[in-house]
Amino acid sequence: MAFSVRATSSSAHHIARNVVSKTRSSCSSSLASKRSQGMAGKKMSPTSSIPFRFRSSSRKSAMTIQAAADGPVCVVTGASRGIGAAIATQLGAQGCRVVVNYAASSGPAEEVCKTIKASGGDAIAVQANVAKQEEVDALFKAAVDAFGEVNVLVNNAGITRDTLMMRMKLAQWQEVIDLNLTGVFLCTQAACKIMGKKKPVKGRIINITSVVGVTGNAGQANYSAAKAGVIGLTKTVAREYAGRNIQCNAIAPGFIASDMTAELGPEIEAKILTTIPAGKYGQPEDIAGMVRFLALDPAAAYITGQTIHVDGGMVM
Ligand code: NDP
Repeated sequence: MAFSVRATSSSAHHIARNVVSKTRSSCSSSLASKRSQGMAGKKMSPTSSIPFRFRSSSRKSAMTIQAAADGPVCVVTGASRGIGAAIATQLGAQGCRVVVNYAASSGPAEEVCKTIKASGGDAIAVQANVAKQEEVDALFKAAVDAFGEVNVLVNNAGITRDTLMMRMKLAQWQEVIDLNLTGVFLCTQAACKIMGKKKPVKGRIINITSVVGVTGNAGQANYSAAKAGVIGLTKTVAREYAGRNIQCNAIAPGFIASDMTAELGPEIEAKILTTIPAGKYGQPEDIAGMVRFLALDPAAAYITGQTIHVDGGMVM
């Protein structure tokens, strides 16, 4: 769902109960090794802003022996673990050059890079707090220094600081808004500047929001407001850039198996599962698969400003 236990200061069980009751009632630097490999000069598909197709498994094994990947350059924020790590790994397996951003987990971020390189992609890990303008600037500079351009941005980094609205401190509100909403704005602005420089202009931006950005959720005033804001921001960026070949879409995950959901315990899990028509949690790879489609598939070239729910039918 839209909250993760690891980052939160309050009880996951408490919030999970809120979610269950709601859904029931409403049917509720290792910086940049310097390699500049631009995509300039590559042949564009007439319908696609990103000249790249899903790699078949036979192509994948062929690509594992190639010296350097030359696929789209993808910046994935919060890619050291969870959903972000799955996204970075899937994009890397398609031959992308991936910037694996993280806040503190340098070891796991390096592991993600290793996995990407082993599957035929390329990757660098870059530490940056994407809630801070100067660190966002450094992140995108590292991306351009390493790979020469940015073609895809996945705004995935997110935290929770859950508590009921009346108990929420301004600091808890602000921290979540700063990362989950302002961070998306800062990274999107930085990416669009770079995407706009190369002619023809092209790019794809995917924002990871949440079903609670649509439904709201008791205990998550900060988080649901930020995620709703991301949906509005997505539509505005889509409108501003549709004519310039940069698409911007959002993905709204439901309950995704993670450390958070693992901590909920069998009793709460059983209650949660009754609210999900699919009857099971999603996997990080389910979100990553949708990112892969929106980021790389020529068939996604005419999709912009949309919020796509990947939630087992939880919100419809
Ligand atoms: P995790 O807590 O597993 O991972 C969070 C990631 O964000 C980590 O890589 C972490 O880096 C990074 N991060 C945290 N703070 C910052 C920061 N200030 N700057 C840069 N990176 C940061 O989260 P999930 O994988 O569960 O969630 C990923 C996204 O999906 C979030 O936006 C979340 O809101 C959303 N979502 C998740 C759902 C779920 O069920 N899990 C449901 C709906 C939405 P580090 O490891 O270095 O701390």
